[in-house]
This record gives sequence, C-alpha cells and structure tokens, in this order.
Amino acid sequence: MTLNVLRRVTMAAVIGAAVLCFDPSGGPAAAQTAQRAPQHAHEVRRLLIRGAMVIPGTGVPAFGPADLLVEGGMIARVGSASAEKWPEADAVIDATGKYVMPGIVNTHMHWHEERVGPIPIQYERDLYLASGVTTAREVGGNFDKTKQWRAESAAHSIVAPRIVLYPMLRDLLAPGQPYNGTPAEIRALVRAAKERGADGLKLIGPMDRDQAAAAIDEAKKVGLPTTVHIAVGEATARDFVDDGVNCIEHFYGIADAAFDGVQDFPPEMNLSNEIHRFGRAGELYTQSNLNHEKLSKLLDDMVAGGVAWSPTMSTYEATRDLIKAQNLPWYKDYLHPSLEEYYKPSMTRHGTFWLGWTATQEARWRKNYQVWMATLLDFGRKGGTITVGDDAGYLYGSLYGFGTVRELELQQEAGFAPVEVIQHATVNGAKVLGLQDKVGRVRAGFTADLLVVNGNPLQNLHLLNPYGTDLMTIDGKVVDNYSGDIMPGDPRAGTVHGGGIEWTIKDGIPYHVPTLMREVKDMVTKARSKPTTAAAR
Ligand SMILES: [Zn+2]
Repeated sequence: MTLNVLRRVTMAAVIGAAVLCFDPSGGPAAAQTAQRAPQHAHEVRRLLIRGAMVIPGTGVPAFGPADLLVEGGMIARVGSASAEKWPEADAVIDATGKYVMPGIVNTHMHWHEERVGPIPIQYERDLYLASGVTTAREVGGNFDKTKQWRAESAAHSIVAPRIVLYPMLRDLLAPGQPYNGTPAEIRALVRAAKERGADGLKLIGPMDRDQAAAAIDEAKKVGLPTTVHIAVGEATARDFVDDGVNCIEHFYGIADAAFDGVQDFPPEMNLSNEIHRFGRAGELYTQSNLNHEKLSKLLDDMVAGGVAWSPTMSTYEATRDLIKAQNLPWYKDYLHPSLEEYYKPSMTRHGTFWLGWTATQEARWRKNYQVWMATLLDFGRKGGTITVGDDAGYLYGSLYGFGTVRELELQQEAGFAPVEVIQHATVNGAKVLGLQDKVGRVRAGFTADLLVVNGNPLQNLHLLNPYGTDLMTIDGKVVDNYSGDIMPGDPRAGTVHGGGIEWTIKDGIPYHVPTLMREVKDMVTKARSKPTTAAAR
C-alpha cells in the first residue's frame, strides 16, 4: 500500500511536471527556467540539463536524478552540478520529471524533395528531429545533394539530423549512363562511391550471386561497409551473409534462404507488378516449406558474422490494417498534401499497391508479421544486432519520424523490453554506422545527441511520438493507469494530452520540439492553402 502510494505520487510528480512543460505557452515549470532556457536551434557554449532521469542507451535501467553538462558539442559531465561545483552554464534545461536518452539513429531513410508535387526538405528534417532522430542513414537518394546536406548538417548551417550517406549503385550513374549489372560495372561503381565520398553502400536486389559477390568483395577492398535490401532474386540472405555483408534491411531474403525449395508463387506472378509483389511478400514467412532449422542456422551465422538487421517493420504496417493507416490522427495537422497525394492507391508510384486490397491479404500479412517478429526476437536473443529504421514516405502510415517511433513500438510488440528497443535505436544504430565510440550513449566524452522526454519512455514508448499521447489523470495530475489506488467510478479521473520530446539536442545544439512541430504545421497549412500541384496533374 505504502509502496503503491509512493509510486503514484512519484509518477504524478514526474509526468505532471512534464505535461506543464510541454505546453509551449509555458506553465509554472517553464516560468522558473524561462530566463536561462536555451534558444531553439542556437548553439550554447555551456548547456546544463538539470535533474534528469537518464536512460544510458546500453540496455540498463535509468538512473538519476542527475545533471548533465554539454560543452563544445560533447557531453562534458554527468553527475551533480552543485556537489561537484561545475562551471556556470550559459543556458539551463530544467529536466525535473523528465527523462534524458540518447538521440535516435535511423538506419534506413530517404530524403524526398518531390512526392506528388514538391515537398519542402525542411518538413522532413523537422519531423525527424521532432521524433528524436539525431542521425539519419540515407540508403539511396540524390548523391550530390545528400553529400552537400551531410556537410551542412555537420557544420550546423542547416537544422537537420547528422547524415550518413549510403548510396545505391544506380545513384552513382551519370545522366544517361547505361547500366547492365556486369560484375566489372558493379566494381567500378563501388570504387566511384568510395572516391566520391560515400560512407557505405546500399545494395538492392534482385541480384544474382556473381553480382552480390562482386559488390561486396569490391566494397571490402575499398573499405566501404554494405547494407542490402534483398529482393526475390538468385542471391538470398545465405549468399549475402556468406559474402560478408554488414547489414540486412527489411525482411526479404532471410526467409527465402530457409526454404526447402522456393516460395510457392502462382504462375501468373509478375515481379514488376507491386500488387503481386507486396501481396505475396506478405506470405513469405508463412510458407509451408520454411525450414526452421535452416532459419535458425542462418540467424546464428548472421550473429557470428556480425551481420546486423534493420527490419523497418513500421514501413509495411498498412498491409495489416489499411483503414487505420489511412486515418491516423496526426494527418490532420502534419500530413503534407504532396505526400497525401502520393499515398493514394496507384499502379505507378512505389508502395501504393492498395487497389482492391483485401481482408485476406491483410490477414496473411498479420500472420507474416507474427513469424517475422518471432524471427527477429530469436535473432536478438541469439545476440544479433537489431537497429531502427523507418523508410518513410512511401506506404500509407509511414510518415517521416512518426515511422521511427512506431518502429520502436513494433519492436516491443515483437517481444523486446522498451529498454532493449531503445538500445536498438541508439547504441546498436551507432555500432552499425561505425559511430559507436562517438554517439548513441549518454556518457561523458560522447557527442551530445540527447533527447529530453516529457515522461518515461520505458513506461510508455508512445511518449516519444511527436503528436504526443493521451495520459490518465486524477485531479488533473498524471498517474500510472495501473495504479492500485485507482478505483472504478472515481469521478476525479480524466485524461490529458501530453508526452512528446521537449528538446532534441544534436551535437550539443538544442532544438525545441514544439517549435519544430509548429513549423511543420505551418508548412502543411501553407501548402494546403495553395491549389495543389497534385490537383493540377
Ligand atoms: Zn528504403
């Protein structure tokens, strides 16, 4: 009883304060710190984060309350500012009742300046930062532009996550340059990627075995790490793992490598038709000839070979429940009309294969997710490295940043504890990108990529959603809805909209999330008020 009361009071104190701070107009807690609060997107010489509960990112529980000193873009100290007599700070974030965790590493994304009509790149940058993404690996896009943005982000001349550049081979072709996929051609493109400053390479299937082998062999020679989107092709995960790929995206290829035989496709199957391709992909993990011993062996070999898995489960979620994905509440304020138009069912745009989408296809995809999630959990339990990627901007429901947060929730659904999921999103992502000594942890000496969260994400991952989430209240104070003290019929019970990340700090620069989201909403409102390019088409 005593413990329960104590816990309830603590929760109320913790989240209650956070809710007040989330209000951009400023509650009492905001008023206290307003004088010395940092300015959105302005460098601070010495930034103090005071009184935070800290989630280190390594899979261990939170500790605190603790103070953090950010100096020169780095986490300079973690401890007690007053007891250890730290130097005076230039700005202070009062994190009383808030949780600080490492910034999220998104291992699979693409920058888009065009959907159906133009889309402002700042829209995506703001959404990613607002969702806690401080590092973004682009796995295919406009090579020269992303390279420029990578430099600008590093120099802090743009408001954007840190960018890591993994081009696809075709991104490296000169305009009009033919591509036949000969091993010699592949090797030349891999060398070009290195010469032009890529951080790694994204391979994409379908690939034959000699093509996969040439790409990975040449990448190793020039020192470029590789990640692969395996399609239905001759080379499966078995080949890519044997060749020494560093990471596998999505879910394709892994089950393919474990069949006794091949997937049971109908004779009319056409891989160029996305209705066929995505419909049948939803049957991949439920094939009757899936050999679980082979699958287990493959996962063992991935672990032994240090091959990571970036599953991007949130990308495909509309396949399990199309109506839900078409009607998410944050579309009202935050869905750009160019993307809204892109999402609509079509036979031309990638990922919009919804024409006539059936309940049977949804049921099969749901089953597919169950086996896929169980396989992912098995991989994690064997010691495999799992990361978080959102691959947003194609399928309904997969919205920049929101998809990253949803990916965390789906990994919890797969069976991982929230603290493990956060490790996937931080420490593991950094490791896969070769940044493990610099980012991904809350630790002195690491880059100050930090999220100040309104509440405890270990208790509820919904708190990371930039839309926020509904919380239970008693007399207006936020409480744990499982508290034993809450009785049915309590007239004091209610809900309040709260949560969200308050500050996303990248390289020591604080970005105020409510400000970012207001900018996003303004961009959307402005775009909607214009006669859309979409309508003109
Ligand atoms: Zn992708």
